[in-house]
Amino acid sequence: MSFVETEERRALRAAVRELGRKYGYAYFNERARSGGQTTELWQEAGKLGYLGVNLPEQYGGGGGGMADLSIVLEELGAAGCPLLMMVVSPSICGTVITRFGTEAQKEQWLPGIADGSTTMAFAITEPDAGSNSHKLTTSIRRDGDEWLLSGGKYYISGVDEAEAVLVVARHVDASGQRLAPSLMIVPTDAPGFTYQPIEMDIISPERQFTLFFDNVRLPSDALIGSTDAGLAQLFAGLNPERIMAASFSTGLARHALEKAAAYMRTRNVWGTPIGAHQGLAHPLAQCAIQLELARLMTQKAAALYDAGLDRESGESANMAKYAAAEVAATTVDQAIQSHGGNGLASEYGLGALLTASRAGRIAPVSREMILNYVAQHTLKLPKSY
Ligand SMILES: Cc1cc2nc3c(=O)[nH]c(=O)nc-3n(C[C@H](O)[C@H](O)[C@H](O)COP(=O)(O)OP(=O)(O)OC[C@H]3O[C@@H](n4cnc5c(N)ncnc54)[C@H](O)[C@@H]3O)c2cc1C
Repeated sequence: MSFVETEERRALRAAVRELGRKYGYAYFNERARSGGQTTELWQEAGKLGYLGVNLPEQYGGGGGGMADLSIVLEELGAAGCPLLMMVVSPSICGTVITRFGTEAQKEQWLPGIADGSTTMAFAITEPDAGSNSHKLTTSIRRDGDEWLLSGGKYYISGVDEAEAVLVVARHVDASGQRLAPSLMIVPTDAPGFTYQPIEMDIISPERQFTLFFDNVRLPSDALIGSTDAGLAQLFAGLNPERIMAASFSTGLARHALEKAAAYMRTRNVWGTPIGAHQGLAHPLAQCAIQLELARLMTQKAAALYDAGLDRESGESANMAKYAAAEVAATTVDQAIQSHGGNGLASEYGLGALLTASRAGRIAPVSREMILNYVAQHTLKLPKSY
């Protein structure tokens, strides 16, 4: 890993930044508030090859890795267009299918995920299990050559924009025993699959849903990989998810930081720009430091993951996700403070970022579960839960 980005990555950053600025926060915010979607941006990013930059070239991807995909999300976020579905569709779903799918599954799903014509959501969270994935009850059973899926999920992002959902469900064998979690691709129009929007206070065009599976009949090839290797396969997708969640947050933090610094350079109420007051300058400088640290850890996690070091990237991905979520929340808060009353006026576009940045402390894995992970795995402390 180098501290100097390759020329190719710098070019990718610059090109994505240009696309992000073409749409900008005004577009993203208008879509969110009017109940619309960011379809044009998603499709253009797909056509330009940005959504599939991490996927194999033979399936229409760019042949890069998570380091490249995280650059795309961070730059879009910094331009005011943080696309939450990038955390899910090309990263978790694209990665899991690339690594564990059959040739036919790769051919069926990857080209669409790469060019943006197919979006895949990801569903693991259940109301009665929450952070405890050992308590998942959504299940799949064999029925001849097919599968029957039953159960439900909540807080699943972007189902209305998706053609399919990658669902984590426990395999129940013929004796009724619940086995390891398996990964199933479920088309959003499958009979027996329904979903309802959850009213959220997050102002975003990407929405959350409760899902219901009432004996959804799926073909044999809906299963990705094997039922016994489910957990290892799942974790292979969760590290990319954490790396991308970190980039979602660092992008948001950069957006807020740039807005705050620009405002503080020009707003003048005591004869000097407000940025001259250390009471405002120092907290923003602290945000800049924390942001750079979070970005570095995100780059480390992506480099380890791309080098095939799954276990090592797990620790860095968790730390990166934690640090990035914290800095996004504190930077948005400080940017609002720096703007005074304007910080909460719709025109300045900061108040709406409060809940979006705050969500990073909860999803896809909460701050507390990351601290549990670090306490147990890094510090070798007794498991606390
Ligand atoms: C905007 C948004 C988008 C989301 N998108 C998706 C998606 O696309 N797909 C998906 O599957 N899920 C998604 N989620 C769900 C998200 O992953 C969960 O909300 C998250 O994992 C926490 O689960 P929970 O909400 O059930 O909280 P709970 O598990 O009920 O936890 C409540 C609180 O208790 C704490 N807690 C729980 N257990 C412990 C413990 N052992 N030690 C210390 N503290 C603990 C948690 O950290 C949290 O603060 C999304 C959520 C949000 C908010």
